[in-house]
Amino acid sequence: MNRRTAILWGVGFAIGITALVLVFLFFNQPREEEELPPGSMHWHANFSISVCGEKRFLNFTKGIELLHTHADGVIHIEGVVENPRELTLKRFFDVVGVPFNRSCVWSYCDGGFCDDKTAELKLFVNGNLLPKEEMEKYSVRHMDQINVTYG
Ligand SMILES: [Zn+2]
Repeated sequence: MNRRTAILWGVGFAIGITALVLVFLFFNQPREEEELPPGSMHWHANFSISVCGEKRFLNFTKGIELLHTHADGVIHIEGVVENPRELTLKRFFDVVGVPFNRSCVWSYCDGGFCDDKTAELKLFVNGNLLPKEEMEKYSVRHMDQINVTYG
């Protein structure tokens, strides 16, 4: 390898390393915190629960100011939200008294049956099936369409 070739290789190597570092930095930027409207907010999200193909309505007004429902199939989020991650669907179900986790709603749990078919709990948000590990972390957002299905 002559001197000129060695320099070219050196320059190419340096450019390659720089590009890799830039790509790494780009993908490792801290995610920006979600923007929230300042002060008090009023969000609504529609939800439904179905068990073995049958809709189960929550026919009561219950919850806390931050997360409640009025027998209307709507999750109401009202008040000042410090952290949008506190608005989980799991917390909503907790405050309205519906046992819920990644495998069960009420006492309907994965591995149970609808007729004689094995049933599983699923959570759809805006038509997308959430992975099991996301089900308890999912935070409700304004206008989300939430469907909890067991079947
Ligand atoms: Zn409302």
